[in-house]
Amino acid sequence: MLIDNHKRTINYLRLAVTDRCNLRCNYCMPAEGISFVQNKKLLTIDELKKISQVLVGQGVSKIRITGGEPFVRKDLIDLLRYLQKLEGLDDISITTNATLIGPYIDELKKLGIKNINVSLDAIDRSTFEKITRRNQYDTVHENLIRLITEGFNVRINFIVLEGQNEQDIIPILELMKHYPVSVRFLEEMPFNGGSKSFEKITWDYKVILTHITKHFSNFKKLDSPETSTSINYKIEGHKGTFGLIPSFSRTFCGSCNRLRITATGDIITCLYGKPKANLRDIVRNKNSKNGIENAILKVVGSRAKTGFDAQKEHGGVFENSMTSIGG
Ligand code: SAM
Ligand code: SF4
Repeated sequence: MLIDNHKRTINYLRLAVTDRCNLRCNYCMPAEGISFVQNKKLLTIDELKKISQVLVGQGVSKIRITGGEPFVRKDLIDLLRYLQKLEGLDDISITTNATLIGPYIDELKKLGIKNINVSLDAIDRSTFEKITRRNQYDTVHENLIRLITEGFNVRINFIVLEGQNEQDIIPILELMKHYPVSVRFLEEMPFNGGSKSFEKITWDYKVILTHITKHFSNFKKLDSPETSTSINYKIEGHKGTFGLIPSFSRTFCGSCNRLRITATGDIITCLYGKPKANLRDIVRNKNSKNGIENAILKVVGSRAKTGFDAQKEHGGVFENSMTSIGG
């Protein structure tokens, strides 16, 4: 079992399989994209398998596949097939922009992968196109509805962006009223590839809740697992739930159970910190198991206590993009 220097159990890995993406969400990267890494610097599917296997051996029981856009990677299903058979791994989930998932839905179903987070920050077409800088609105909606109706556990990630999509908060809750999905509102974080920097946000989780309270009076707070990053609620008469994720306020660090590995093999122990080690050269060595285990043990033994402590590693300025970190 992996236990960090603040006695937190680490059993959840967020594994980025690429830094590439077919959208250009303005809160994630600049219009021209970021300088994506060369192919040879990305972990291969075999390397991703190896790293996952070692981490599951060390006590990781949940892996979330992220990116970049995971489905940009044509060989993703090969990795998923492998993970699905990995003993000790109880939960495989995917975070996606839902543009490219369509052709894979049947295969995901067969594999028993049920937990899909769809990032969708607008229900209005022009707002969606302004934020994502692409015209994939119809495809995303079609795939989202397909995922829901085919029985996946769908959660929608909606980042509240000042001056861009506040007006869609209530409509998305209304739209999802009849579906068993969880709509989670996230605070914007400053990982946008240097497009803009900010030290505070207007739409924090308390402001979002106040806004929702003005429109829906009848809702109750739900119990959530200790390690959950979202504070969850149920509105009377709605099939699904909604959640607030204080991703900028960082109220959840005390129970953080996560480790991140980027598509280039960087190990990140806190979203707000810098990478702590790199696994690419280690996994490319012949007998890599011990090397990976030791690198993981070392970084887990020196984690920052909170995202605010980790942030100091950047000297205040973030230039990285979420497409490289994985969210
Ligand atoms: N492309 C996939 C997607 O968008 O779902 C997976 C990768 S994306 C980097 C993972 C998550 O990070 C998404 O839910 C996205 O909305 C979120 N994200 C990206 N940039 C963010 C930011 N600046 N602040 C908060 N969340 C962000
Ligand atoms: Fe791509 Fe996801 Fe970043 Fe949007 S948030 S640009 S979909 S990686």
